[in-house]
Amino acid sequence: MDLPQLGTNLLNRVPPRLLSAAERYLKSVPLLRNRLEKETDSMLAGLEGDLKPYRGQLPTFATLPTQGLSHEQVLGEMSQMKEKEEHRWKDGLVSGAVYHGDSEHIDFLNRVYALNSQSNPLHADLWPSATKFEAEVVAMTAHMLGATEANAGRPPEQHICGALSSGGTESIMLAMKTYRDWARETKGITRPEMVAPSTAHTAFDKAAHYFGIKMVRVPVGPDYRADVKATRKALNRNTIVIIGSAPSFPHGTIDPIEELSELARKRRIGFHTDACLGGFVLPWARKLGYPVPEFDFRLPGVTSMSADTHKFGYAAKGTSVVLYRGTALRSHQYFTATEWPGGIYFSPTFSGSRPGALIAAAWASLVSTGEEGYLDATRRILETADAIKRGIRAIPGLHVLGEPLFVIAFGSDIVDIYKVMERMSARGWSLNGLHKPAAVHICVTQRHTQPGVAERFLEDLRAAVEHVRANPGEKGTMAPVYGMAGTVPFRGILSDLLKKYMDLLYKV
Ligand SMILES: *Cc1c(COP(=O)(O)O)cnc(C)c1O
Repeated sequence: MDLPQLGTNLLNRVPPRLLSAAERYLKSVPLLRNRLEKETDSMLAGLEGDLKPYRGQLPTFATLPTQGLSHEQVLGEMSQMKEKEEHRWKDGLVSGAVYHGDSEHIDFLNRVYALNSQSNPLHADLWPSATKFEAEVVAMTAHMLGATEANAGRPPEQHICGALSSGGTESIMLAMKTYRDWARETKGITRPEMVAPSTAHTAFDKAAHYFGIKMVRVPVGPDYRADVKATRKALNRNTIVIIGSAPSFPHGTIDPIEELSELARKRRIGFHTDACLGGFVLPWARKLGYPVPEFDFRLPGVTSMSADTHKFGYAAKGTSVVLYRGTALRSHQYFTATEWPGGIYFSPTFSGSRPGALIAAAWASLVSTGEEGYLDATRRILETADAIKRGIRAIPGLHVLGEPLFVIAFGSDIVDIYKVMERMSARGWSLNGLHKPAAVHICVTQRHTQPGVAERFLEDLRAAVEHVRANPGEKGTMAPVYGMAGTVPFRGILSDLLKKYMDLLYKV
């Protein structure tokens, strides 16, 4: 055990309230505060160049140009930027991010966008096409996730239904707001709580933060799956919903959804399966014979789900599906206004106006891919992921976390995995750093199924591990930040740093 680790282990025994008091105290000492600010400022200044590569290369606009630029100039400058940015994701060097990415598919979606660019489902009378596309994307996704079996023999108001949102985060936030309002109205719960495994996406924290719901996180088991027993213990009178992931973002493992959703059903509370990542993969993986436990509406306790069309649904960025068991539950998501001078108003999701063209593109992606297309893509992705898993396990010093399908997290007991990640970055790779425990993951997409990509990944990873082993004294630039994120108990200081980073993003 090294020193920072020992320090963390000791500090982890200190009650959080005492820690934040210590942090407040440290920050209140002017000398320390100045030192801290200097350190963070110099670190951020070091990042600025990489974040703003076009300064001095292309015109910048902090004010409107007096006279508009020509279309040629605008398109010309954008093409230059695209040229610079495209190869990393196109060549499969990136974890997740672009899930299909073949030029033919992109060109097709772009044509669909062009045909529908003025459409807005807020005006259902003007664009009944947008309404049709939305309803059909929801229906197709619901069917894929067990709705037809779940609906059999049930009255229409208990059927699986849903809405299209702008992304996974919005789907999750809509569902949590829905449970909050449902629980208040039907159970009189005014201090709502949600219970989620530590690995569930942080969009649930965001929902908790926005909607005044208490988040209760439960540590996962040694297999990186939700701990059912500990989850049961975390429930109380104020619990409105339990959450499980299929699979989780960090480690790609599927929580025991059947047991968790039964806990919820017995208590007559909600259960949300977050299938943002797996919704368009797992149904096909099961058909291909991969071991996929039940996770969808075939389980009677599952009352809502999220599935991202803009991930493995292969749509353009900006759409996701949220689904509910029954229209009564969904109605708590809706907003209506009857008193406003602007007229009678209703809106199903957070946005008012919505991009009809993106909804059309999601519809086009689903109907042009079809079941056979999703099966074929899933087969290629899972075969590539299997090769990558085998390759990682064969590298001395590395281990795979849990038993994942297509999101593969790996760590090490002998090298600093963040330094390995940094060596991978130097070779052009963009992987995700994880912490608690320290690990790195790659989310395998269609980009990695191109010939030679998996081999190149494993070759570079082997070389990266060897380099770090051979140069233990070498300091990284970002590695210490990741290391700190995992170990420094002073969350406020880190949070301040991240806010400054966001400030930096908004600088012209
Ligand atoms: C990506 C993801 C989300 C959030 O989706 P966004 O589209 O990025 O908002 C939520 N849950 C899981 C499991 C995800 O992988």
